[in-house]
Amino acid sequence: MDHFLYRDGALYAEDVPVAEIASAVGTPFYVYSTATLLRHFHLFDDALAGMDHLVCYAMKAASNQAILKTLAEVGAGMDVVSQGEYLRARAAGVAGDKIVFSGVGKTHEEIRTALTGGVRQFNVESEPEMDAINEVALELGVVAPITVRVNPDVDAKTHAKIATGKSENKFGIPISRASAVYAYAASLSGLDVIGIDCHIGSQLTELGPFRLAYQKVAELTEMLRSEGHDIRRLDLGGGLGIPYERSNEAPPLPSEYGQLIKETLGHLNVEIEIEPGRLIAGNAGLMVSKVIYVKSGEGRDFLILDGAMNDLIRPAMYEAHHDIVPVTEAEPGIEQRPYDIVGPVCESGDTFAKQRMMPPLQAGDLVAFRSAGAYGAVMASEYNSRPLIPEVLVHGDQFAVIRARPSFDEMINRDTIPSWL
Ligand SMILES: *Cc1c(COP(=O)(O)O)cnc(C)c1O
Repeated sequence: MDHFLYRDGALYAEDVPVAEIASAVGTPFYVYSTATLLRHFHLFDDALAGMDHLVCYAMKAASNQAILKTLAEVGAGMDVVSQGEYLRARAAGVAGDKIVFSGVGKTHEEIRTALTGGVRQFNVESEPEMDAINEVALELGVVAPITVRVNPDVDAKTHAKIATGKSENKFGIPISRASAVYAYAASLSGLDVIGIDCHIGSQLTELGPFRLAYQKVAELTEMLRSEGHDIRRLDLGGGLGIPYERSNEAPPLPSEYGQLIKETLGHLNVEIEIEPGRLIAGNAGLMVSKVIYVKSGEGRDFLILDGAMNDLIRPAMYEAHHDIVPVTEAEPGIEQRPYDIVGPVCESGDTFAKQRMMPPLQAGDLVAFRSAGAYGAVMASEYNSRPLIPEVLVHGDQFAVIRARPSFDEMINRDTIPSWL
């Protein structure tokens, strides 16, 4: 559920007409709903009620300071995967002890920044990384809390580019080696081994793979405890999918996911962490774009938008589907027609949808891409020298630009000319 609904034929973001935002900031732009962000956070938080837990928002999904602050204010922790994300979380007021540092290649500098500024734990992905964290911790005279990311070798049944829990993926250590790796970690005096981490992929639309993975984590918890490790925290990753197509069957609910966690891990008396990203931000954001031209091709009509693959890369990168809706609702009963919906970038991949049934549209009309809040703005680039598009946050009947569109001069002047030119 989100807060982007039609009222009297006009699409609203909470209590603000989307067209009004378009007039104020120009198109294309991203708009997020505070109420939807909070609703999704609370769904997870409530799903784990009764267990000692922390919901750490995987901020790589959408990392604007205003989004982070919105979630931090209701108690969210953050899952970060880089120094930049760590510093963003701190800048948004998140305490170090609520920041989990994930990622497959943390550098010494990143480790130092987190150990100095405070960190809840590092999720460690390899023995060399363990050595690096140990080294930096000893150098700073502190002890670094860590979990080890285990790869449970389950098929997440999702797009290959976002599956992470099979043995052939680059992530984590094979669960079969856990015993040896934990023994090694325990031998390093700069580390405090507090738990286990696992994240099997993104946009999972069934609970089965989670169940398999968490059962393996439960067994591993008991085994490692019997080997003398004080396993007191389990980080279960993120990955619960969202309904990108309204017409499709909806993925499992956070409440069902929470129930599964209780069933598989509830008996272990551990603290639970989860790292949802997409489900918190995805349906909390739209990308709004304007039709520049309607071009009639041979046997097909193209809607050429002012938004492009550099602004929202998911269709080009993951063959992702986004529902695209007119900002002014079509008259009831009007006949839909198929359009190829494309951006102006010089790549055939700059195609958002082929033969998508839409009400008739004209140049100047606004359309909204649903479910664009996660992995949208954060993956944008300035390819084709198209400035990054602005982000707007709505709260009830108010809205604010939370990242302004850079001017062309700002974009150009980021480059510098060497002295010999
Ligand atoms: C990407 C990622 C997440 C978030 O995944 P979603 O599918 O957005 O919920 C959580 N944890 C780790 C380690 C990740 O890499």
